[in-house]
Amino acid sequence: MEHSSEVKTMGTELGKYKTCVSARSTNKEILKKSQDGGIVTQLFAYALEEGIIDGAIVAGQSDEPYRPRPFIATTVEELMTSRGTRYNISPNVSWIKEATRSFGLDKIGIVGTPCQMQAVRKGQLYPVGLRDVPDKIALAVGIFCMENFPYQSIKQLVEDHAGVKMESVKKMDIGKGKFWVYTERGAVVQLPLKVTHKYEQPGCHVCLDYVANLSDVSTGSVGSPDGWSTVFVRTKKGDDIWGKAIAAGCFETKPIEQVKPGLELVSKLANEKITKNQKTVEERATFGVNKALRNPYISPK
Ligand SMILES: Cc1cc2nc3c(=O)[nH]c(=O)nc-3n(C[C@H](O)[C@H](O)[C@H](O)COP(=O)(O)OP(=O)(O)OC[C@H]3O[C@@H](n4cnc5c(N)ncnc54)[C@H](O)[C@@H]3O)c2cc1C
Ligand code: SF4
Repeated sequence: MEHSSEVKTMGTELGKYKTCVSARSTNKEILKKSQDGGIVTQLFAYALEEGIIDGAIVAGQSDEPYRPRPFIATTVEELMTSRGTRYNISPNVSWIKEATRSFGLDKIGIVGTPCQMQAVRKGQLYPVGLRDVPDKIALAVGIFCMENFPYQSIKQLVEDHAGVKMESVKKMDIGKGKFWVYTERGAVVQLPLKVTHKYEQPGCHVCLDYVANLSDVSTGSVGSPDGWSTVFVRTKKGDDIWGKAIAAGCFETKPIEQVKPGLELVSKLANEKITKNQKTVEERATFGVNKALRNPYISPK
């Protein structure tokens, strides 16, 4: 992979980044249950093994199927239990304090949606109540996000609309204009996104970041072929860790220009999200809400 310190800004919708590639983990065990190319789990596993982080705040399983619960993975085995996407809020940021105080971590990895990456950076800049945070975030991995859902909404979509019991779900995915539900017994149910829209969290309709601009490394499926991920390496820290992980053979990569549908689709979706949600911001501003919403496209160095 080309490795450079140059910062690219293709369009503000994609934020600043140093490199963008299509990639997947070379570890077949990770890929068996990862959502896409296993980038998040592989990168944290490498960082843990190399002592770059001493734990990662991830969205794990809870007592209810597909309801995420944040936890701190300090081993690769624990990381493996958090593979896959759960389409509702996992309050990972609220565990940062716990990670430093109760778990005694000095080098924290954290994964989260673009809004959560913004919260992490805000916590680093203004550490009110997060005294230990600024120098302890060792690797912030962002995941692309168009929208999210309350847990009850996901349950309703899966059980009432798709007709599948939550306990039987093997994977959920949003892609190619559909919401997909895969069952343990091999059935696949798809719902058009016009059905899912009304279940989205209203807060997501003023969100202007699709690709986690403020993370060290961000990733999602859009732009890459099935089973692969699009990866933006954004900061110096992200570049160092990503470069070492590549050198250690953790990932296969392809230039993003050589894969379909490629960066054009990522750009298109990011722009659609911004345009649509900017309208909501402006509508809300007319009755005094969201006036202070700022453009988040400023990546940390
Ligand atoms: C609400 C939501 C919306 C998304 N929308 C898009 C989209 O529009 N386009 C797109 O390309 N990608 C989207 N993604 C990202 C995508 O689904 C994958 O999470 C991403 O590609 C990482 O896959 P992976 O194989 O690298 O990760 P894996 O190796 O499978 O690891 C997944 C990681 O994600 C974490 N995680 C799972 N659920 C959550 C959650 N709710 N909150 C925070 N962390 C979580 C887990 O802790 C785990 O560490 C979305 C993800 C979420 C949670
Ligand atoms: S759409 Fe925005 S606000 Fe909603 S979960 Fe995703 S990043 Fe957060």
